[in-house]
Amino acid sequence: MTSQENFIIVGGGLAGASAAEALRAGGFEGRIRLFAGERHHPYIRPPLSKDYLSGKDAIDTVFVHPHDWYDEHGVEVGTGSVVASLDPAARNLTLADGERVGYDALLLATGSTPRRLSIAGADLDGVHYLRTIDDSEALRAELKDGGKRLVLIGSGWIGMEVAATARTLGNDVTILEREAIPLSAALGDELGTMFAELHLEHGVVLRRRVVVDSIVGAGGRVTAVVLAGGESIAADLVLVGIGAVPNVELATAAGLETDNGVLTDAALRTSDERIFAAGDVANAFHPVIGQRLRSEHWANALGSGAAAGRSMLGQSVSYDDIPYFYTDQFDLGMEYSGYGPLTKGATVVYRGDRAKREFIAFWVADGRVVAGMNVNVWGVNEAVQGIIRRANAVDPARLADESVALESL
Ligand code: NAP
Repeated sequence: MTSQENFIIVGGGLAGASAAEALRAGGFEGRIRLFAGERHHPYIRPPLSKDYLSGKDAIDTVFVHPHDWYDEHGVEVGTGSVVASLDPAARNLTLADGERVGYDALLLATGSTPRRLSIAGADLDGVHYLRTIDDSEALRAELKDGGKRLVLIGSGWIGMEVAATARTLGNDVTILEREAIPLSAALGDELGTMFAELHLEHGVVLRRRVVVDSIVGAGGRVTAVVLAGGESIAADLVLVGIGAVPNVELATAAGLETDNGVLTDAALRTSDERIFAAGDVANAFHPVIGQRLRSEHWANALGSGAAAGRSMLGQSVSYDDIPYFYTDQFDLGMEYSGYGPLTKGATVVYRGDRAKREFIAFWVADGRVVAGMNVNVWGVNEAVQGIIRRANAVDPARLADESVALESL
């Protein structure tokens, strides 16, 4: 490693910031430039649908590092710097303003973008998406005083978290979902039903198995969402949360291998040996389960960003974190750890009090725990991850028995 080396991070989210931190922590003395398309320094996104959206958390709580951390650590942050193209053969990139920048190693941490709804009226004022600080602030401005009719399209994590926040702020909330049970793709029907019941208890209206036909408005502003069949649901504002797509354009145009994200090995290295990828955009080979995983959650941005930084330093890296995420909705908080793709067809074993919504759910496949979710039970996530990592054959009765220590499983 020489101090003349020039490392570039493309993307100003948590993955990029974590990589910069890992580079300096690992002793890198060369130049680090981080290009952030947004006007903000790197920030985390979980609060944008929860306590930052509600106004409870101030803006300084969302930044990954205080702004002066970057100067203190010699990380040059270019906010509003959009990278237009990448030339792996010449080892340089070109910014939107035409500046050409060379690199010795480069990290793609370009994140993902909300999937757009392509129906009539989707571009009316009052139709929101949620990804950035600016999106969250625009939504908050509309919801903060309560009394608005919010219609949510999509019942994934964005839809459900914003529903809880908006309802808590005193708004009328209707969720339109095309499936029968919210979050069932991630958690299965039984646990998805628990979230549905939670929302119904708090006065959220859930419209299941509906297809949205169009959005209509007056004077350029949304007034209603129209369902296939003609029913019209009055709306003061609409939030679309129908998933996200990885930002692979730079990688694809540069000829890197992509397939549902930028393909990497377990060291987060792409098909070009000097280019790495981390965070939402990386579809990385997971060495434990022997298949690729692309995760759009906060913990993956943190963990894979840091791992990619170490990999850029030439350290031997095998990124094997167990995917993790959490949610807070009304009075329910949970943490989930595990391998989503392995939970299809798994048996769910419960430990604790499901009626009180205080329990741990374990997904058991081929006799082994592949995922776990603690609901309103705290301080157990590490133990749950330990069970998944050990991958011992487990007896469901012992898994369910609260007198059996998690550490013994
Ligand atoms: P998501 O969790 O993947 O959920 C997308 C939802 O939209 C699903 O219910 C899906 O239904 C539905 N959908 C997809 N296409 C649709 C269409 N054309 N019309 C109607 N519904 C449609 O995505 P998200 O809620 O938009 O969140 C974006 C990303 O941020 C996700 O990766 C999410 O995991 C992440 N996020 C995470 C957290 C957290 O960790 N707590 C919080 C917020 C966001 P089907 O099941 O029918 O496909």
